[in-house]
Amino acid sequence: SLDLVHRSTYERTFVAGKIPLGLKRKGLRILVTGGAGFVGSHLVDRLIERGDSVIVVDNFFTGRKENVMHHYGNPNFEMIRHDVVEPILLEVDQIYHLACPASPVHYKFNPVKTIKTNVVGTLNMLGLAKRVGARFLLTSTSEVYGDPLQHPQVETYWGNVNPIGVRSCYDEGKRTAETLTMDYHRGANLEVRIARIFNTYGPRMCIDDGRVVSNFVAQALRKEPMTVYGDGKQTRSFQYVSDLVEGLMRLMEGEHVGPFNLGNPGEFTMLELAKVVQDTIDPNAKIEFRPNTEDDPHKRKPDISRAKEQLGWEPKIPLRQGLPLMVNDFRTRIFGDHGSSES
Ligand code: NAD
Ligand code: UDP
Ligand code: UDP
Repeated sequence: SLDLVHRSTYERTFVAGKIPLGLKRKGLRILVTGGAGFVGSHLVDRLIERGDSVIVVDNFFTGRKENVMHHYGNPNFEMIRHDVVEPILLEVDQIYHLACPASPVHYKFNPVKTIKTNVVGTLNMLGLAKRVGARFLLTSTSEVYGDPLQHPQVETYWGNVNPIGVRSCYDEGKRTAETLTMDYHRGANLEVRIARIFNTYGPRMCIDDGRVVSNFVAQALRKEPMTVYGDGKQTRSFQYVSDLVEGLMRLMEGEHVGPFNLGNPGEFTMLELAKVVQDTIDPNAKIEFRPNTEDDPHKRKPDISRAKEQLGWEPKIPLRQGLPLMVNDFRTRIFGDHGSSES
């Protein structure tokens, strides 16, 4: 329609920075796949707050209506139960493509489905972006670096991924999704953006999703021992969700394709993380060692120089500041409102 042409031209002008800041901006129509999930729902909040119209497409595999229910009834919000593995016709200006389970427990549950989501699902969303001329942002992952031989990881590093292991459905799936994204960019002239997200935590994570921060926090709150896998000396770098959402939006609005590492360079061993959780929740919380999972990356820490330079972005919330915000949310969800006044 004329409106579509008009609006995407408007967007291109706006995004290219040709319209002076302060000029009233017309809302965009934005598709967020996986928008009922942990990261997606926080992104949706920011987009709605900014005045955009948001369509969420989600199959509720790991997402929950509770995460977006506060937007029900808002004419700028629409929720579609749909699996991205199936084609869909929509008219939008931008696509944030997040649909894919992120916790190892969830993505290993049905590995073939994980690959289909990453490959066929991403292909469909790219096809949609091509048809309507929308800008497309892929949420890839630090997992594309596998068990990295370079530390910290820079975007130019090609990674060390086992193609036939139990994590491959996710790692190779995301690598293929990156390839598809670049091929649509080169072949169909599509405007694309690629984010490589490092471990992110915050309110609305699934309480029992098996990821380390959610496990430790839920365990400490329930007075269960925190389960440290392996010797606990492996490292991760933990980013608070609002920092990630800010990075994703800057990436989408900016003029660089990427890929960009989006993560907090603060690196912790799992034993150090357990200590932070003890300090935050319960100094007497116990630790219990369990065998580690197969192909677990030994260390991971983003080099974020590129994002700093080209997006003017860096995370603002260190682990010791972000963790209490997540703990409040978990306490309420585990014990009910009553529990939030505890300790
Ligand atoms: P999440 O599991 O909370 O959210 C994923 C959402 O996608 C859920 O709402 C789920 O129901 C939906 N979904 C899954 N498969 C789908 C399908 N086939 N069709 C439609 N919807 C589907 O995970 P998250 O932490 O919010 O992660 C969001 C994105 O960010 C994912 O693509 C993930 O790979 C990426 N990422 C996250 C992290 C992190 O630490 N959270 C790290 C790296 C990358
Ligand atoms: N697709 C979709 N919605 C659209 C346009 C395309 O889901 O609005 C799907 C389409 O069904 C196809 C994929 O995206 O499976 C790739 O589409 P493209 O047009 O790039 O390739 P082709 O259809 O020629 O294979
Ligand atoms: N881990 C742990 N205890 C748990 C869950 C995970 O020690 O209860 C470890 C896991 O072995 C890995 C790290 O924490 O070394 C991060 O795991 P997670 O599943 O959170 O994310 P990943 O970075 O592996 O995708």
